[in-house]
Amino acid sequence: MLGLMQDWPLLLHKIIDFAAVQHGGQEVVSRTIEGPIHRETYREVRARALKGAQRLARDGIKLGDRVATLAWNSHRHLESWYSIVGIGAIYHTVNPRLFPDQIAWIVNHAEDRIVMVDLTFVPLVEALADKLPTVERYIVFTDAAHMPQTKLKNAVPYEEWLAEADGDFRWVEFDERTAAGLCYTSGTTGNPKGVLYSHRSNVLHSMAATGGDGLQVLANDTVLPVVPMFHANSWSLAFSCPMKGAKMVMPGAKLDGASVYELLESEKVTFTAAVPTVWLMLLDYLRKNNLKLSTLKMVGIGGSACPPAIIRAFEEDYGVEVRHAWGMTEMSPVGSTGAMKPAVAHLPREQILALKAKQGWAPFGVEMKITDDQNRDLPWDGVTFGHLKVAGFAVAKSYFKGEGGEILDENGFFDTGDVATIDPNGYMQITDRAKDVIKSGGEWISSIDIENIAVGHPDVAEAAVIGVRHPKWDERPLLIVVPKEGKSPQRDSVLDFLNGKIAKWWMPDDVQLVKEIPHTATGKINKMKLRETFASYRLPTA
Ligand code: AMP
Repeated sequence: MLGLMQDWPLLLHKIIDFAAVQHGGQEVVSRTIEGPIHRETYREVRARALKGAQRLARDGIKLGDRVATLAWNSHRHLESWYSIVGIGAIYHTVNPRLFPDQIAWIVNHAEDRIVMVDLTFVPLVEALADKLPTVERYIVFTDAAHMPQTKLKNAVPYEEWLAEADGDFRWVEFDERTAAGLCYTSGTTGNPKGVLYSHRSNVLHSMAATGGDGLQVLANDTVLPVVPMFHANSWSLAFSCPMKGAKMVMPGAKLDGASVYELLESEKVTFTAAVPTVWLMLLDYLRKNNLKLSTLKMVGIGGSACPPAIIRAFEEDYGVEVRHAWGMTEMSPVGSTGAMKPAVAHLPREQILALKAKQGWAPFGVEMKITDDQNRDLPWDGVTFGHLKVAGFAVAKSYFKGEGGEILDENGFFDTGDVATIDPNGYMQITDRAKDVIKSGGEWISSIDIENIAVGHPDVAEAAVIGVRHPKWDERPLLIVVPKEGKSPQRDSVLDFLNGKIAKWWMPDDVQLVKEIPHTATGKINKMKLRETFASYRLPTA
């Protein structure tokens, strides 16, 4: 017998409808690429998104078509997502930090018909346009006054294009399982793979990820999503802020410490989220200028492991609670967050800090397990490492166009490619990417653990650990560090600092200083590149 309740479809444009009705006067503030701060309300976001939808329909965009966006976080980018999904088309977020050839590859693979692009990226797209045969028109996120001279096909300034619609338009209705968003991940081997979100998965994910124990967003909050919309749905904030009625502050292209600080203070931000490198820049700026954070209450940190030194600095020096989160593009992206459960809330401060450095526990809608190489479940004892596997309503079941083949195991679980422990309270800790684990004498060494401790050294700005060939042990850890400005930490001082904090056999065999550690397009340490750089390096112990 079926229940007798309404099949109210979980469609993304219902979110902006809701925001316009319940929080219509709430602001979306943007630092524009042109310079000035722009303000509009959720009522205006909805009205402009409806015009965009009408205008896309007039350009021939239909259900299932892909529209690319290559843009920073802004009101225009936000509007465009609702325009696109409101007619059943698919927003395809392109990460501008990818190599140009990769961008061309994914635009062609996605068969994007329109590209909506920020002023910043017009030259990038111009250089590629000849290689993008499926693109029929380029819409530049600006007005006529700032429109550059360009030969891009059918190029038009967004504001002019929008003004051609009167807004007398209704969203299209369709099944909630309809595709809504496409985001390519290069975290796998081979070509980038497209993760195709549905309306249903995005709506459910936004509700689950931003509850009180997650990336907490409430109507009273002012949220600064530093995490870009082109990085895994900006961790749902483009949906969850209007869904909750929170004010949004869109940072545009400037993500340095000074610019982020200015917005945090001038807009009285209460919640913000980004990868650890952004917070390293902010903390550095705060310290150098002896500044305080007067309104910020919580910071969501994820995308790569958050070093305990960042957690301690935010919580103890600035009174800001850290919510460490883990996830991936394939998970929409939030897979776990680290709020304190009652079972651990009473623990001494140092143990709480250690728990916060873990990646947290899975919310409703994410099933999680660790397995051995034979896919046998491993215990949640906080010690045993295994392959981290997940299932849930916002987890991919295959990649776009079937790329990469079958991605679920026989029980319907997706292998994240991460290696983790889970403790008896459900707190998961990532120890490595499976391909980065250091295998020494048949045992695994966690590179992330060593990195986290090394960045606590007073002279170390950033640290990375890679496995280097060793004749006896197979691999041994090499610690690579970027010194803080004006410092040059000695090998022994760094090793002394690690002494007693990790198992003896985890001790790196050597320390190398570098000016810079390479990062991927999503801000992670690029270990493949590091391994290439150190390919001919020989350990002193070898
Ligand atoms: P992406 O799909 O680009 O978001 O990358 C997902 C991967 O980033 C995960 O599989 C992890 O390897 C890594 N990652 C994300 N968040 C964290 C975190 N909090 N700690 C450690 N690794 C993380």
